[in-house]
Amino acid sequence: MKPAPFTYHDPRSTAEAIDTLATLENARVLAGGQSLMPMMNFRFAMPDHLVDINKIEELAYLRVENDTLRCGAMTRQRDLELSTEVGECCPVLHEALGHVGHRQTRNRGTIGGSLCHLDPSAELLNVAMLLGASVHAVSKRGTRDIAIAELPAGYMSTSLEPDELLYAVSLPLPARDEAHAFVEFARRHGDFAIVACSALVRLGRDGDIASARLAISGLTHAPVRPLALERALAGQKPTGATLKAAAAEVTKLEAVADAYVTAEYRRHLARVLTFRALERAAMRAQEKLHA
Ligand SMILES: Cc1cc2nc3c(=O)[nH]c(=O)nc-3n(C[C@H](O)[C@H](O)[C@H](O)COP(=O)(O)OP(=O)(O)OC[C@H]3O[C@@H](n4cnc5c(N)ncnc54)[C@H](O)[C@@H]3O)c2cc1C
Repeated sequence: MKPAPFTYHDPRSTAEAIDTLATLENARVLAGGQSLMPMMNFRFAMPDHLVDINKIEELAYLRVENDTLRCGAMTRQRDLELSTEVGECCPVLHEALGHVGHRQTRNRGTIGGSLCHLDPSAELLNVAMLLGASVHAVSKRGTRDIAIAELPAGYMSTSLEPDELLYAVSLPLPARDEAHAFVEFARRHGDFAIVACSALVRLGRDGDIASARLAISGLTHAPVRPLALERALAGQKPTGATLKAAAAEVTKLEAVADAYVTAEYRRHLARVLTFRALERAAMRAQEKLHA
């Protein structure tokens, strides 16, 4: 398959990229190309202009600042995966990265591209929702911060304006005593998940759940945080029966059907994976308590 004809632009700085985006009609940003190129080859996307941001060095970095992991939009998924800092400070992100495509796709794919592509089941979007991330956009009109919950505007479409470039992502780090888990169900390893669930669980000194956070993706166009369920878990004993009953609550969430997967099956997966994520996170929280 070949893409429809387009003009290629190769800016060397963020300023040059936003100048270019401001002057063009029907332009798309090219990051790792792992989603955009297949979409162009299938002609699901037919931009007249491609603005390749791969040579903008200032967009590729990761650093921990004030309990926040700050990443440039062009930080490769593989660099996040290999970072010992990410492994130590944000193990839920590290665990999720192992499920993102394949090593080859992670070598090119970027955190910014993954969030902008906005596949409903994307692991990085799930973790960004779990952590309450913000993304930072820039255009000739200035910069703006967007809460991750405000980024999805519909199925695989973002609230970014056509001339806006996502330049960075801020992920608030989990507390040291929050234990994590990321689980998903995909047809084959490396495929996008049908449903994925991440969890952060903190236990009090008495062993009861002090706080729980959950993000479930694959039910609708964007991951959801079941906030009422999170609140209900606080103060409970992390027994199998409690976690099973909590997981059963997610079957009340809205789910969509498509040509391959029914809404009912998505809800079933959400229940099973929520239980597994809570169970694994609670077990790790117990280990932290007794360490
Ligand atoms: C075989 C295969 C398996 C895969 N499996 C998975 C998987 O299991 N889970 C998963 O999450 N992903 C998976 N992917 C997709 C992969 O993670 C992509 O890297 C990701 O979806 C897009 O990132 P990218 O950097 O390649 O972006 P691109 O493909 O370059 O861009 C994607 C979209 O985002 C826009 N965009 C990119 N960067 C910016 C920016 N800075 N500002 C504004 N707009 C921007 C582009 O214009 C485009 O619309 C898979 C890909 C392949 C080829």
